[in-house]
Amino acid sequence: MRLKALTILLPLLAVWLCGFKFIQPPRKWNEADMPIEYYVGEDSPAGMTEDEAREILVDSHANWANVDCSPLRFERAGTIPNEPTFGRSDRTQVTFQGNLESGVLAAAVTHASSNVLEQNGNTFFQTTAYNIIFNSGPAWGTPEYIGSPDCFGRYSYLSTSTHEIGHGLGLGHSCDDGEPCPDPIKRNATMYWSGQRCEDDRDDPNEDDAAGINSIYGVAVDFDVVSPETSGTVGTAPMTVVVSVPDEFQIDRFLAFEWNFGDGSDLVMLDADDPALDGLEHTYTEEGQYTITLTAFGDDESCGGEFETFKRQVGAVLACSPPQPSAEFVNEGDFTVQMVNTSPLGAFGCTTEYEWILDGDESTSLSTYEPQYVFESAGTHTITLRAAGPGGENTADFEITVTRNSDVGCNASVTGRGSLGLGGLLALLGLAGLVRRRS
Ligand SMILES: [Zn+2]
Repeated sequence: MRLKALTILLPLLAVWLCGFKFIQPPRKWNEADMPIEYYVGEDSPAGMTEDEAREILVDSHANWANVDCSPLRFERAGTIPNEPTFGRSDRTQVTFQGNLESGVLAAAVTHASSNVLEQNGNTFFQTTAYNIIFNSGPAWGTPEYIGSPDCFGRYSYLSTSTHEIGHGLGLGHSCDDGEPCPDPIKRNATMYWSGQRCEDDRDDPNEDDAAGINSIYGVAVDFDVVSPETSGTVGTAPMTVVVSVPDEFQIDRFLAFEWNFGDGSDLVMLDADDPALDGLEHTYTEEGQYTITLTAFGDDESCGGEFETFKRQVGAVLACSPPQPSAEFVNEGDFTVQMVNTSPLGAFGCTTEYEWILDGDESTSLSTYEPQYVFESAGTHTITLRAAGPGGENTADFEITVTRNSDVGCNASVTGRGSLGLGGLLALLGLAGLVRRRS
Protein backbone atom coordinates (compact mmCIF):
# COMPACT_ATOMS: atom_id res chain seq x y z
CA MET A 1 0.00 0.00 0.00
CA ARG A 2 1.26 3.45 -0.84
CA LEU A 3 0.03 6.66 0.69
CA LYS A 4 -0.26 9.83 -1.26
CA ALA A 5 -1.06 12.88 0.77
CA LEU A 6 -2.43 16.03 -0.73
CA THR A 7 -0.67 19.16 0.36
CA ILE A 8 -3.77 20.85 1.72
CA LEU A 9 -2.70 21.63 5.24
CA LEU A 10 -5.18 22.68 7.82
CA PRO A 11 -4.47 26.36 8.29
CA LEU A 12 -3.33 27.25 11.76
CA LEU A 13 -6.38 28.57 13.46
CA ALA A 14 -5.88 31.99 14.85
CA VAL A 15 -8.23 32.54 17.74
CA TRP A 16 -6.72 35.85 18.75
CA LEU A 17 -8.05 38.30 16.28
CA CYS A 18 -7.45 41.89 15.51
CA GLY A 19 -8.20 45.21 17.18
CA PHE A 20 -6.64 48.63 16.99
CA LYS A 21 -2.92 48.36 17.47
CA PHE A 22 -0.02 50.65 18.20
CA ILE A 23 2.89 51.03 15.83
CA GLN A 24 5.88 49.13 17.21
CA PRO A 25 7.62 50.22 19.30
CA PRO A 26 4.75 52.41 20.56
CA ARG A 27 5.20 56.11 19.86
CA LYS A 28 3.04 59.12 20.77
CA TRP A 29 3.15 62.87 20.62
CA ASN A 30 3.55 64.88 23.80
CA GLU A 31 0.52 67.07 24.45
CA ALA A 32 2.92 69.95 25.13
CA ASP A 33 3.87 69.77 21.42
CA MET A 34 0.32 70.60 20.23
CA PRO A 35 -0.48 71.87 17.73
CA ILE A 36 1.51 69.51 15.53
CA GLU A 37 2.93 71.63 12.71
CA TYR A 38 3.13 69.97 9.31
CA TYR A 39 4.52 70.96 5.92
CA VAL A 40 3.17 70.00 2.50
CA GLY A 41 5.24 69.42 -0.67
CA GLU A 42 4.70 71.79 -3.58
CA ASP A 43 3.27 69.30 -5.97
CA SER A 44 -0.03 67.83 -6.90
CA PRO A 45 -0.94 64.22 -6.41
CA ALA A 46 -2.21 62.67 -9.69
CA GLY A 47 -5.87 63.53 -10.27
CA MET A 48 -5.96 66.51 -7.91
CA THR A 49 -4.77 70.09 -7.79
CA GLU A 50 -2.29 71.30 -5.16
CA ASP A 51 -5.04 73.32 -3.51
CA GLU A 52 -7.41 70.36 -3.35
CA ALA A 53 -4.71 68.19 -1.79
CA ARG A 54 -3.84 70.81 0.83
CA GLU A 55 -7.46 71.35 1.73
CA ILE A 56 -8.05 67.63 2.18
CA LEU A 57 -4.94 67.38 4.36
CA VAL A 58 -6.55 69.95 6.66
CA ASP A 59 -9.69 67.78 6.77
CA SER A 60 -7.81 64.53 7.33
CA HIS A 61 -5.85 66.03 10.23
CA ALA A 62 -9.10 67.47 11.62
CA ASN A 63 -10.56 63.94 11.47
CA TRP A 64 -8.23 62.97 14.32
CA ALA A 65 -8.62 66.23 16.25
CA ASN A 66 -12.41 65.70 16.13
CA VAL A 67 -12.39 62.30 17.80
CA ASP A 68 -14.19 62.65 21.16
CA CYS A 69 -11.68 63.25 23.98
CA SER A 70 -8.83 63.69 21.50
CA PRO A 71 -6.41 66.43 22.61
CA LEU A 72 -4.78 66.46 19.15
CA ARG A 73 -4.38 69.79 17.36
CA PHE A 74 -2.70 70.50 14.04
CA GLU A 75 -1.46 73.47 12.11
CA ARG A 76 -0.33 73.63 8.50
CA ALA A 77 3.00 75.41 8.75
CA GLY A 78 3.52 76.00 5.04
CA THR A 79 4.77 74.43 1.85
CA ILE A 80 8.18 72.98 1.04
CA PRO A 81 9.86 71.79 -2.17
CA ASN A 82 8.41 68.36 -2.96
CA GLU A 83 11.32 66.07 -2.09
CA PRO A 84 9.88 62.71 -0.98
CA THR A 85 11.89 61.26 1.90
CA PHE A 86 11.26 59.39 5.12
CA GLY A 87 14.42 60.82 6.64
CA ARG A 88 13.17 64.05 8.22
CA SER A 89 13.03 63.32 11.95
CA ASP A 90 13.00 67.09 12.57
CA ARG A 91 9.99 67.99 10.44
CA THR A 92 6.49 66.59 9.91
CA GLN A 93 5.81 66.61 6.20
CA VAL A 94 3.63 65.23 3.44
CA THR A 95 5.11 64.77 -0.05
CA PHE A 96 3.90 63.35 -3.36
CA GLN A 97 5.00 61.22 -6.32
CA GLY A 98 7.37 59.13 -4.24
CA ASN A 99 9.08 56.02 -5.52
CA LEU A 100 7.39 53.45 -3.30
CA GLU A 101 6.90 49.81 -4.13
CA SER A 102 4.18 49.30 -6.71
CA GLY A 103 0.82 48.40 -5.16
CA VAL A 104 1.46 50.73 -2.24
CA LEU A 105 -0.75 53.82 -2.17
CA ALA A 106 1.21 55.77 0.42
CA ALA A 107 3.38 55.17 3.45
CA ALA A 108 4.32 56.93 6.69
CA VAL A 109 7.36 56.81 8.91
CA THR A 110 7.02 58.06 12.49
CA HIS A 111 10.18 59.38 14.15
CA ALA A 112 10.64 59.44 17.93
CA SER A 113 13.22 60.46 20.50
CA SER A 114 14.30 58.31 23.44
CA ASN A 115 12.03 60.27 25.81
CA VAL A 116 9.40 58.08 27.37
CA LEU A 117 5.74 59.04 27.93
CA GLU A 118 3.03 57.15 29.84
CA GLN A 119 -0.65 57.09 29.00
CA ASN A 120 -3.47 54.77 30.12
CA GLY A 121 -0.95 52.31 31.53
CA ASN A 122 1.13 52.10 28.31
CA THR A 123 4.65 53.35 27.63
CA PHE A 124 5.52 55.27 24.47
CA PHE A 125 8.55 56.93 22.95
CA GLN A 126 7.96 60.61 22.26
CA THR A 127 7.20 61.29 18.60
CA THR A 128 9.13 64.11 16.95
CA ALA A 129 7.85 63.97 13.37
CA TYR A 130 6.06 61.91 10.75
CA ASN A 131 6.93 61.78 7.07
CA ILE A 132 4.18 60.74 4.68
CA ILE A 133 4.84 59.92 1.02
CA PHE A 134 2.14 59.32 -1.59
CA ASN A 135 3.26 56.93 -4.31
CA SER A 136 3.47 57.91 -7.95
CA GLY A 137 0.99 55.89 -9.97
CA PRO A 138 -2.40 55.91 -8.24
CA ALA A 139 -4.89 58.58 -9.30
CA TRP A 140 -6.59 60.32 -6.41
CA GLY A 141 -9.97 61.88 -5.97
CA THR A 142 -11.73 64.34 -3.70
CA PRO A 143 -14.75 63.03 -1.75
CA GLU A 144 -17.14 64.34 -4.42
CA TYR A 145 -15.60 62.00 -7.01
CA ILE A 146 -15.09 58.94 -4.87
CA GLY A 147 -18.27 56.93 -4.66
CA SER A 148 -19.83 58.83 -7.61
CA PRO A 149 -20.19 57.49 -11.16
CA ASP A 150 -17.35 59.87 -12.13
CA CYS A 151 -14.86 58.14 -9.82
CA PHE A 152 -13.06 56.37 -12.71
CA GLY A 153 -10.87 54.16 -10.57
CA ARG A 154 -9.53 56.88 -8.29
CA TYR A 155 -8.57 56.33 -4.67
CA SER A 156 -9.95 58.40 -1.84
CA TYR A 157 -7.33 60.97 -0.91
CA LEU A 158 -9.18 61.78 2.30
CA SER A 159 -9.26 58.15 3.43
CA THR A 160 -5.61 57.43 2.62
CA SER A 161 -4.28 60.65 4.11
CA THR A 162 -6.34 60.09 7.28
CA HIS A 163 -4.91 56.55 7.45
CA GLU A 164 -1.28 57.70 7.05
CA ILE A 165 -1.71 60.47 9.61
CA GLY A 166 -3.11 57.78 11.95
CA HIS A 167 0.28 56.02 11.66
CA GLY A 168 1.96 59.37 12.38
CA LEU A 169 -0.08 59.59 15.58
CA GLY A 170 0.88 56.09 16.68
CA LEU A 171 -1.80 53.76 15.29
CA GLY A 172 -0.96 50.52 13.53
CA HIS A 173 -3.41 48.62 11.33
CA SER A 174 -6.76 47.45 12.74
CA CYS A 175 -6.18 44.27 10.73
CA ASP A 176 -3.14 43.49 8.65
CA ASP A 177 -2.74 41.79 5.30
CA GLY A 178 -3.44 38.09 5.77
CA GLU A 179 -4.81 38.46 9.28
CA PRO A 180 -8.32 37.07 9.89
CA CYS A 181 -10.64 40.02 10.34
CA PRO A 182 -14.16 38.83 11.15
CA ASP A 183 -15.18 41.93 13.08
CA PRO A 184 -16.80 44.49 10.75
CA ILE A 185 -15.73 47.33 13.06
CA LYS A 186 -12.08 46.46 12.40
CA ARG A 187 -12.67 45.89 8.68
CA ASN A 188 -14.33 49.27 8.30
CA ALA A 189 -11.71 51.14 10.34
CA THR A 190 -9.72 53.84 8.60
CA MET A 191 -6.64 52.00 9.90
CA TYR A 192 -7.57 48.81 7.98
CA TRP A 193 -4.52 47.80 5.96
CA SER A 194 -5.88 48.31 2.44
CA GLY A 195 -8.16 50.52 0.39
CA GLN A 196 -10.16 49.97 -2.78
CA ARG A 197 -10.71 52.22 -5.75
CA CYS A 198 -13.80 54.43 -5.50
CA GLU A 199 -14.35 53.47 -1.88
CA ASP A 200 -15.32 56.28 0.46
CA ASP A 201 -16.49 54.37 3.52
CA ARG A 202 -13.22 54.74 5.43
CA ASP A 203 -12.94 58.51 5.07
CA ASP A 204 -13.58 59.17 8.77
CA PRO A 205 -12.19 57.40 11.82
CA ASN A 206 -14.75 54.88 13.12
CA GLU A 207 -15.26 53.56 16.67
CA ASP A 208 -12.21 51.32 16.51
CA ASP A 209 -9.96 54.15 15.26
CA ALA A 210 -11.39 56.44 17.96
CA ALA A 211 -10.81 53.83 20.68
CA GLY A 212 -7.23 53.51 19.40
CA ILE A 213 -6.52 57.23 19.41
CA ASN A 214 -8.05 57.56 22.88
CA SER A 215 -5.91 54.77 24.25
CA ILE A 216 -2.85 56.75 23.10
CA TYR A 217 -4.03 60.28 23.88
CA GLY A 218 -7.34 60.32 25.70
CA VAL A 219 -9.60 58.28 27.88
CA ALA A 220 -9.45 54.55 27.49
CA VAL A 221 -10.78 51.55 29.34
CA ASP A 222 -9.61 47.97 29.36
CA PHE A 223 -10.61 44.76 31.09
CA ASP A 224 -9.46 41.29 32.00
CA VAL A 225 -11.26 38.09 31.09
CA VAL A 226 -10.38 34.60 32.23
CA SER A 227 -12.02 31.22 32.58
CA PRO A 228 -11.27 29.85 36.07
CA GLU A 229 -11.33 26.30 34.66
CA THR A 230 -8.80 26.75 31.89
CA SER A 231 -6.98 29.90 33.05
CA GLY A 232 -7.50 31.09 29.48
CA THR A 233 -10.49 32.03 27.36
CA VAL A 234 -10.91 28.87 25.33
CA GLY A 235 -12.77 25.89 26.70
CA THR A 236 -15.69 23.51 26.54
CA ALA A 237 -19.27 24.76 26.54
CA PRO A 238 -20.87 25.42 28.99
CA MET A 239 -17.99 27.66 29.97
CA THR A 240 -17.82 30.27 32.70
CA VAL A 241 -15.62 33.34 32.48
CA VAL A 242 -14.85 36.03 35.02
CA VAL A 243 -14.51 39.60 33.76
CA SER A 244 -13.02 42.43 35.77
CA VAL A 245 -11.96 46.05 35.42
CA PRO A 246 -8.31 46.58 36.49
CA ASP A 247 -7.65 49.11 39.24
CA GLU A 248 -6.04 51.64 36.90
CA PHE A 249 -9.40 52.05 35.15
CA GLN A 250 -11.50 52.17 38.34
CA ILE A 251 -10.89 55.90 38.66
CA ASP A 252 -12.93 59.03 39.27
CA ARG A 253 -13.53 59.96 35.65
CA PHE A 254 -15.74 56.87 35.16
CA LEU A 255 -19.26 56.82 36.57
CA ALA A 256 -20.55 53.48 35.31
CA PHE A 257 -19.55 50.43 33.29
CA GLU A 258 -21.64 48.24 31.03
CA TRP A 259 -20.82 44.67 29.99
CA ASN A 260 -22.02 43.14 26.75
CA PHE A 261 -21.11 39.45 26.63
CA GLY A 262 -21.87 39.10 22.94
CA ASP A 263 -24.19 36.09 23.26
CA GLY A 264 -27.52 37.89 23.30
CA SER A 265 -27.77 37.91 27.08
CA ASP A 266 -28.87 41.06 28.91
CA LEU A 267 -26.38 43.91 29.23
CA VAL A 268 -25.01 44.29 32.76
CA MET A 269 -24.63 47.85 34.03
CA LEU A 270 -22.48 48.43 37.12
CA ASP A 271 -21.93 51.65 39.05
CA ALA A 272 -18.34 52.75 39.56
CA ASP A 273 -18.41 51.60 43.22
CA ASP A 274 -19.93 48.16 42.53
CA PRO A 275 -17.70 45.39 43.96
CA ALA A 276 -18.59 43.24 40.92
CA LEU A 277 -16.15 45.37 38.92
CA ASP A 278 -13.47 43.22 40.55
CA GLY A 279 -14.99 40.02 39.22
CA LEU A 280 -18.27 39.21 37.47
CA GLU A 281 -19.11 35.70 36.30
CA HIS A 282 -20.78 34.89 33.01
CA THR A 283 -21.54 31.44 31.56
CA TYR A 284 -21.62 30.67 27.84
CA THR A 285 -23.96 27.74 27.30
CA GLU A 286 -23.63 27.34 23.52
CA GLU A 287 -20.59 26.66 21.38
CA GLY A 288 -19.42 29.88 19.78
CA GLN A 289 -16.83 32.58 19.49
CA TYR A 290 -17.91 35.58 21.48
CA THR A 291 -16.88 39.21 21.62
CA ILE A 292 -17.06 40.93 24.98
CA THR A 293 -17.49 44.69 24.99
CA LEU A 294 -17.00 46.92 28.01
CA THR A 295 -18.35 50.45 27.74
CA ALA A 296 -17.36 53.02 30.35
CA PHE A 297 -19.45 56.15 30.93
CA GLY A 298 -17.95 59.22 32.50
CA ASP A 299 -17.70 62.92 32.81
CA ASP A 300 -14.51 64.75 31.94
CA GLU A 301 -13.98 68.38 30.97
CA SER A 302 -11.21 67.45 28.57
CA CYS A 303 -13.74 65.34 26.66
CA GLY A 304 -16.28 68.14 26.58
CA GLY A 305 -18.33 66.76 29.48
CA GLU A 306 -20.10 63.42 29.36
CA PHE A 307 -18.44 60.77 27.29
CA GLU A 308 -18.39 57.06 26.75
CA THR A 309 -15.51 54.87 25.73
CA PHE A 310 -15.41 51.19 25.02
CA LYS A 311 -13.10 48.25 24.61
CA ARG A 312 -13.88 45.08 22.70
CA GLN A 313 -12.01 41.85 22.97
CA VAL A 314 -12.79 40.03 19.78
CA GLY A 315 -12.71 36.28 19.84
CA ALA A 316 -11.84 36.55 23.48
CA VAL A 317 -14.02 33.66 24.45
CA LEU A 318 -14.29 30.46 22.51
CA ALA A 319 -16.63 27.90 23.98
CA CYS A 320 -16.44 24.62 22.10
CA SER A 321 -18.28 21.31 21.98
CA PRO A 322 -16.34 18.17 20.98
CA PRO A 323 -15.83 18.03 17.17
CA GLN A 324 -18.04 15.65 15.14
CA PRO A 325 -15.79 14.09 12.50
CA SER A 326 -17.36 12.79 9.30
CA ALA A 327 -16.07 12.06 5.81
CA GLU A 328 -16.96 10.79 2.39
CA PHE A 329 -14.72 9.59 -0.37
CA VAL A 330 -14.42 9.76 -4.13
CA ASN A 331 -13.16 6.88 -6.26
CA GLU A 332 -10.38 8.27 -8.42
CA GLY A 333 -9.70 4.94 -10.17
CA ASP A 334 -6.34 3.14 -10.16
CA PHE A 335 -7.02 2.02 -6.57
CA THR A 336 -6.97 5.62 -5.54
CA VAL A 337 -9.48 7.11 -3.18
CA GLN A 338 -9.76 10.77 -2.33
CA MET A 339 -11.08 11.47 1.14
CA VAL A 340 -13.51 14.37 1.50
CA ASN A 341 -13.70 15.89 4.94
CA THR A 342 -17.36 16.64 5.72
CA SER A 343 -16.94 17.37 9.43
CA PRO A 344 -19.07 20.37 10.45
CA LEU A 345 -16.72 23.23 11.24
CA GLY A 346 -18.66 24.54 14.22
CA ALA A 347 -17.33 27.72 15.75
CA PHE A 348 -14.13 29.05 14.26
CA GLY A 349 -11.24 27.48 16.11
CA CYS A 350 -13.20 24.61 17.70
CA THR A 351 -11.52 21.97 15.53
CA THR A 352 -7.80 22.45 15.45
CA GLU A 353 -6.57 19.01 14.43
CA TYR A 354 -7.55 16.26 12.02
CA GLU A 355 -5.81 12.91 11.89
CA TRP A 356 -6.41 10.01 9.48
CA ILE A 357 -5.32 6.50 10.47
CA LEU A 358 -5.41 3.49 8.17
CA ASP A 359 -6.27 0.04 9.56
CA GLY A 360 -5.57 1.11 13.10
CA ASP A 361 -1.87 1.57 12.36
CA GLU A 362 -0.76 4.77 14.11
CA SER A 363 2.33 4.96 11.94
CA THR A 364 0.08 5.79 8.95
CA SER A 365 -1.27 8.89 10.68
CA LEU A 366 -1.83 11.82 8.32
CA SER A 367 -2.74 15.27 9.55
CA THR A 368 -3.75 16.64 6.16
CA TYR A 369 -7.30 17.91 5.83
CA GLU A 370 -8.24 15.55 2.98
CA PRO A 371 -5.67 12.86 2.18
CA GLN A 372 -5.62 10.56 -0.81
CA TYR A 373 -5.01 6.85 -0.43
CA VAL A 374 -3.64 4.51 -3.09
CA PHE A 375 -4.22 0.81 -2.34
CA GLU A 376 -2.20 -1.97 -3.90
CA SER A 377 -4.45 -4.92 -3.32
CA ALA A 378 -8.04 -5.99 -2.85
CA GLY A 379 -9.46 -6.08 0.64
CA THR A 380 -11.36 -4.14 3.22
CA HIS A 381 -9.67 -1.24 4.94
CA THR A 382 -10.71 0.82 7.92
CA ILE A 383 -10.00 4.51 7.92
CA THR A 384 -10.29 6.37 11.20
CA LEU A 385 -10.77 10.12 11.22
CA ARG A 386 -9.97 11.76 14.52
CA ALA A 387 -10.89 15.42 15.11
CA ALA A 388 -9.76 17.35 18.16
CA GLY A 389 -10.10 20.84 19.51
CA PRO A 390 -10.58 22.82 22.70
CA GLY A 391 -13.89 20.98 23.36
CA GLY A 392 -12.33 17.51 23.22
CA GLU A 393 -11.98 14.89 20.52
CA ASN A 394 -14.02 12.29 18.66
CA THR A 395 -13.25 9.60 16.12
CA ALA A 396 -15.26 8.06 13.31
CA ASP A 397 -14.39 4.87 11.40
CA PHE A 398 -15.09 4.11 7.75
CA GLU A 399 -14.72 0.88 5.82
CA ILE A 400 -13.52 0.92 2.25
CA THR A 401 -13.65 -2.24 0.19
CA VAL A 402 -11.24 -2.62 -2.70
CA THR A 403 -12.51 -5.33 -5.03
CA ARG A 404 -11.02 -7.29 -7.93
CA ASN A 405 -12.82 -6.62 -11.13
CA SER A 406 -13.23 -10.35 -11.78
CA ASP A 407 -15.16 -10.77 -8.53
CA VAL A 408 -17.93 -8.38 -9.42
CA GLY A 409 -17.87 -8.05 -13.17
CA CYS A 410 -17.56 -4.85 -15.05
CA ASN A 411 -19.63 -2.42 -13.08
CA ALA A 412 -20.69 0.51 -15.19
CA SER A 413 -21.29 2.71 -12.19
CA VAL A 414 -17.64 2.88 -11.25
CA THR A 415 -16.34 6.36 -11.78
CA GLY A 416 -12.82 7.51 -12.25
CA ARG A 417 -10.12 6.84 -14.77
CA GLY A 418 -10.17 3.43 -16.39
CA SER A 419 -7.92 0.92 -14.72
CA LEU A 420 -8.85 -2.28 -16.49
CA GLY A 421 -5.43 -2.61 -17.94
CA LEU A 422 -3.78 -2.88 -14.60
CA GLY A 423 -3.35 -6.60 -14.08
CA GLY A 424 -7.07 -7.15 -14.42
CA LEU A 425 -7.71 -5.31 -11.17
CA LEU A 426 -10.15 -2.55 -10.71
CA ALA A 427 -10.64 -0.41 -7.69
CA LEU A 428 -14.30 -0.38 -6.90
CA LEU A 429 -14.67 2.45 -4.54
CA GLY A 430 -17.23 4.98 -3.69
CA LEU A 431 -20.26 2.84 -4.35
CA ALA A 432 -23.20 3.15 -2.04
CA GLY A 433 -23.09 0.60 0.71
CA LEU A 434 -19.36 0.30 0.83
CA VAL A 435 -18.85 3.03 3.39
CA ARG A 436 -20.31 2.81 6.81
CA ARG A 437 -19.92 5.06 9.70
CA ARG A 438 -19.40 3.20 12.89
CA SER A 439 -19.30 5.79 15.58
ZN1 LIG B 1 -1.02 51.63 6.82
